[in-house]
Amino acid sequence: MPCEEMTVQAPSQTTRELNLPEGVPPLTSLYLYVAGSCNLACRHCWIAPTFDPNGSNDQFVKLEYVEKAIREAKPLGLRSVKLTGGEPVLHPQFRELVALISEEELDIIIETNGTLVDDDLAEYMKQKGVSFISVSVDGATAEVHDALRGVWGSYQDALKGIRALVRVGYPVQLICTLHRGNVSQMAEVVELGESLGCGSVKFNHVQRVGRGDQFAKQQGLEIPKIIKLYQHVENELLLRSKVRIHFDIPFAFYPIRKLLNDSLGRCSVRNILGMLAGGELSLCGIGVTVPELIYGHMENGNLREVWYDSPGLAHLREQIPSQLEGICGQCLHRDLCQGVCVANNFHVAGRLNAPYQFCDYAEMTGLFPISRKKQSNSEKEEHDEKQRIAVVPATSG
Ligand code: SF4
Ligand code: SF4
Repeated sequence: MPCEEMTVQAPSQTTRELNLPEGVPPLTSLYLYVAGSCNLACRHCWIAPTFDPNGSNDQFVKLEYVEKAIREAKPLGLRSVKLTGGEPVLHPQFRELVALISEEELDIIIETNGTLVDDDLAEYMKQKGVSFISVSVDGATAEVHDALRGVWGSYQDALKGIRALVRVGYPVQLICTLHRGNVSQMAEVVELGESLGCGSVKFNHVQRVGRGDQFAKQQGLEIPKIIKLYQHVENELLLRSKVRIHFDIPFAFYPIRKLLNDSLGRCSVRNILGMLAGGELSLCGIGVTVPELIYGHMENGNLREVWYDSPGLAHLREQIPSQLEGICGQCLHRDLCQGVCVANNFHVAGRLNAPYQFCDYAEMTGLFPISRKKQSNSEKEEHDEKQRIAVVPATSG
């Protein structure tokens, strides 16, 4: 999914408890796309911010918008704010931003490239109660990471940032996006996470959104390969690893024991609202590349009115998950998974309820697990018959 890190954020209160209008779900998470720029130029970035090595332009979210948005969103059930980007730490008032959210006693989650984090900032974030931090490291060597991130030296800077965060006690999540150029380094990336003292390592694959669209065509992994890599993680890497390993793959490919025991990351898209660097309110960050998924603006609007009345959000609520098409519509995990990433599905197919490409492809090529499909009685009988024939030994004539 385009979101690098994904934490489960189920609403703690219901629509009725919050006194929201019928059909309006709680708004639990605000995703702030803090900076419209970044000090790196990653080839797989799905937001594709302006490359701005010194943070000298003015594409940063205004604190007054954040303050107003939080004030309006808390009665709707707001519990957490995620700071992402572009690079959030580039914001000239980053500390004030963190302090402002901290004073509201909301969970703060930060996705960063780590290059601008030093001991002092790490200590500050700890004091302000930032709850979760992920840092992107796309390989086990500087050559591999820097080639993808577009800035030489960014690997060493990211590692310095992670060390500072670990020193103050963060179980940093190291996030690695897999592609043809780094897939052979998976075991080394896990070892790197262990040696740095990270709490977990997460492997993503390139999404076909923003700059990632072109990169996925050139360097992305084939879906059968991703499925094999996931099996390698489950059957080998996890057994010898000292850190937790997460691998981005749709629910239908997880073993049942994992679905029952683990708290798996998923997108609660019905309970999220994005705010872009200019103050636009959007279906997460996709509004940067798909303006029709912008629902309002903090400058002239009111977040509560957008959450209640936006036709775009009403459409989303009507479509997801009940109207998901194709394999997602037939999948037993539909209501929990919700098609993995609605933003990605819209970008690819132009419809919110389009199936997730990964599972769609798996279904077309016979790789989708049949046990995860809702089956009609006749399909069940046909499947059972095939199984029966497969296990009956051929008799010699
Ligand atoms: S088929 Fe759709 S709902 Fe099922 S796991 Fe795949 S993406 Fe999720
Ligand atoms: S739809 Fe969900 S997973 Fe996809 S980018 Fe938006 S918040 Fe992230």
